[in-house]
Amino acid sequence: MKPTFLKRAFGIDKGWEYQSTKYVRGGMELHVEAKREDIRCPHCQATHIALRGSRERRIRSVPIGMKAVTIVAKVPRCQCRECFQYFDFSPLLPPGGDPTLIALNDLLSASAG
Ligand SMILES: [Zn+2]
Repeated sequence: MKPTFLKRAFGIDKGWEYQSTKYVRGGMELHVEAKREDIRCPHCQATHIALRGSRERRIRSVPIGMKAVTIVAKVPRCQCRECFQYFDFSPLLPPGGDPTLIALNDLLSASAG
């Protein structure tokens, strides 16, 4: 799946990197991962960060046609090397637009060109 589609349909852009799409029973999963270079300490704004594992955050998104869409975001557990605070790095996943309309627009603009 193209990153531009992800951005337009689901608002996944800044801070996240697209990994893969998995088709599961009754729907699909979009796997994304937080971009390492965008990680900043929320306490002191330092960028000197140590990774301490990660966890999955599952977000039910707007469906594409009849398919349910789940965004599976890999959220890294971090420790700041400046102030030693622990935090989860999870950039905002804004609510999406209407993916059917956006997909149609993409098709139309592709066939027009
Ligand atoms: Zn810090």
